[in-house]
Amino acid sequence: MSVAVVKLGSSVVADDAGALRLSAVARVCEEVALLHGSGVDVIVVTSGAIARGMHLLGLPVRPRAIEELQAASAVGQGRLYRTYDEHLRERGIQSAQVLLTFFDMSARTHYLNARRTLRKLLEWRIVPVINENDTTTTDEISFGDNDFLAAQVAVLVDASLLLLLTSTEGVFTADPRVDPGARLVDTVEDVSELAALDIGAATTALGSGGMRSKVVAAEMATAAGTPTVIGSGFEPGLLARAWAGEPGGTRFAPQTVRQSSFKLWLKYAKPSQGVVVVDAGAARALREGGTSLLPVGIVGVEGAFDAGDAVEVSASGTTVGKGIASYSADELRQVMGRKSAEIREILPRATEEAVHRDYFVLA
Ligand code: GLU
Repeated sequence: MSVAVVKLGSSVVADDAGALRLSAVARVCEEVALLHGSGVDVIVVTSGAIARGMHLLGLPVRPRAIEELQAASAVGQGRLYRTYDEHLRERGIQSAQVLLTFFDMSARTHYLNARRTLRKLLEWRIVPVINENDTTTTDEISFGDNDFLAAQVAVLVDASLLLLLTSTEGVFTADPRVDPGARLVDTVEDVSELAALDIGAATTALGSGGMRSKVVAAEMATAAGTPTVIGSGFEPGLLARAWAGEPGGTRFAPQTVRQSSFKLWLKYAKPSQGVVVVDAGAARALREGGTSLLPVGIVGVEGAFDAGDAVEVSASGTTVGKGIASYSADELRQVMGRKSAEIREILPRATEEAVHRDYFVLA
């Protein structure tokens, strides 16, 4: 099975006022249909629900409040999907709307369900059109513009190509909007090559990603073995060229030593909402034993976070790593330093681990 994952950022899907760029979406659908017709399975990941919603609601600027962004997305999503569905159907292709959350997919059963559904859709030769389920999670709204989601989907289906379409031609040696001497980087063998460059975290008026999140997404996908191209959503023929391995945009080579994409997302993409301070024994167990963090090893909790948020784990003022908390900050304060049997009396439904080893990454 060869699969291409094509992601369209908000700046490709909608103009600065939030109006749909119909010609760009139509052309990408045309190219998707051509590739699909040649026997390749294609998955579309699209942003732009918030932008569409803003436009439909007559909001002149992107709201700041997260619930307004979520509500705008709910207004825009149906209309956004319909556009793809119509364009693909005109070309004889059935599509399916799939709304996913990255954290959902990190839970084993959800991950397997998502994979089974996507595989079945591809087997039926349907093009899934994916967005984040913004009503329930806000990871990509806060930062990412679906870049990480697209990388995760590519890993999920073991894609042969991830193409991230944006409003610039790829990764430049400097921000081309401010530096006229900026040059396009055509190939990247290893993401560390970009470390010295100022690739710009600047985002557009509509999306939340910027080049930084695309490069991290490329790192995530290539770490799992999927070649990734970052390129312009307005460049005709880029999808076919990217699939054929021909020049266009910035191509990231797949890495031979593979890493879990979830852990890369956690490390680079998911912001920490608080700090969990652990004792020396727990720090050693995390660093050397690869164990889960139990409440008994926790000596302090800083900040206000919910179960499911990312937290920094530190010991004696040094960061040990980052993990997804199984408890809220308030709950952790009640159970820190305590053994499992005592915890069951205080919080009967609590899990044993404060941070599970599968949801923890060393700094
Ligand atoms: N899920 C969001 C959307 O489709 C991602 C884009 C953003 O970060 O604004 O609008």
